[in-house]
Amino acid sequence: MLGVTLSQLLGQPEVSAFLKGVVSGGRFANAYLFHGPAGVGKCTAALAFARALLCERGAGATALAPDVFAAAGETAAGESAAAQAGAAPVARRDDACGACAACAKSGSLQHPDLKLLFPVSGEEKNLDETVAETLAALRADPLFVFSYEKAASIRLSLTRELLRELAFKPFEAARRVVVVRDADRMREDQYSALLKSIEEPGASTVWILTTARLARLPATIRSRCQRVRFAPLGEPAVRAFLMERAEVAEPDARMLAALASGSLARALALRDAAPRELRDQSLALLEPALRGDPAALWRAIQGFTRYGRAGRESLRLLVEFHLLWLRDLLRARYDAPREALVHRDREKEIRRQAALTDASEIRRRVMVLEEVLRAIEGNVTPELALFSGLARVAGQRLGEGEWPRPATARWDY
Ligand SMILES: [Zn+2]
Repeated sequence: MLGVTLSQLLGQPEVSAFLKGVVSGGRFANAYLFHGPAGVGKCTAALAFARALLCERGAGATALAPDVFAAAGETAAGESAAAQAGAAPVARRDDACGACAACAKSGSLQHPDLKLLFPVSGEEKNLDETVAETLAALRADPLFVFSYEKAASIRLSLTRELLRELAFKPFEAARRVVVVRDADRMREDQYSALLKSIEEPGASTVWILTTARLARLPATIRSRCQRVRFAPLGEPAVRAFLMERAEVAEPDARMLAALASGSLARALALRDAAPRELRDQSLALLEPALRGDPAALWRAIQGFTRYGRAGRESLRLLVEFHLLWLRDLLRARYDAPREALVHRDREKEIRRQAALTDASEIRRRVMVLEEVLRAIEGNVTPELALFSGLARVAGQRLGEGEWPRPATARWDY
């Protein structure tokens, strides 16, 4: 995540081209808003953009002649340097060089003019320690994935401290860059302060906000930022990354990439989960349902959710394995080649089932499971949603009398 340049961004060619254009053009908005699905590289791109803005052989050079079209209020350093440089044209790079002192510092998040804010949870008295630990992990692990609790937020004390600092000139570069990760996790008064800073004319700070939940940001913030939209990553890009950079074996990489729905962060977070084993356990849950044995299905689900796997995330994963299986069935139904299958280690089984199952039946099952996913996200007891879903996938509509006790009257699909 650190030390990446715009040229190295994974699977976002449009974003990469746009940001390089901004860097080479030399005209910067006061604030950018990177939005799009979680885990597709928005923060990595924000840090790469920041590096390009700080690189002393490029946009960050204080000796760089200011663009004549640039907004009024360039820094004094820029103006005097321009006077020294005279009218000689300066070739602008469109990315961080990766080799200068500024790039070395920004690549390890140690550039004094680069700030990164991110959501934190826990007690205020441990705040410094929590932030320091996260930064240390981020520096140590090139595949670091941010994860935080639901209540994690961008802490008020940290934004206050930052805003105080912004009153002073940048230390080394022509401007300061502040990256705010998951900027939707702030309080109302923080947004007001942020807005004031963004709107300040001639500010020497470039803000880069990222969010996977655009609608949660106040309209006032959204409207004052230059927006940059990120797309989900393609499966081949995620798969290749997992194999080349994370040393994941091909069959696992293929499955993780398919499961990740375009999110590299999700694929990375799942990579220690022994995906094929988990897949087999998940798919085996359908067997009692196919036998028409609701009590055994209920026991199997409870067995699965024991041992710390009761969380919504693991149940979601379980359903997603079934969805991937159905996707393979549908593909096999239409004679897709082996390469198009995710579960190709179980190809025979897939072909056999596909030959016996109508496409419309496969789609019905997909719809049932998608409903289960929504229920798991919602307020329903996940085990019950799963029980009902798998029973319906197997073609059972269990009567009231057959429901296991805890489910009675609480869940009638
Ligand atoms: Zn550089």
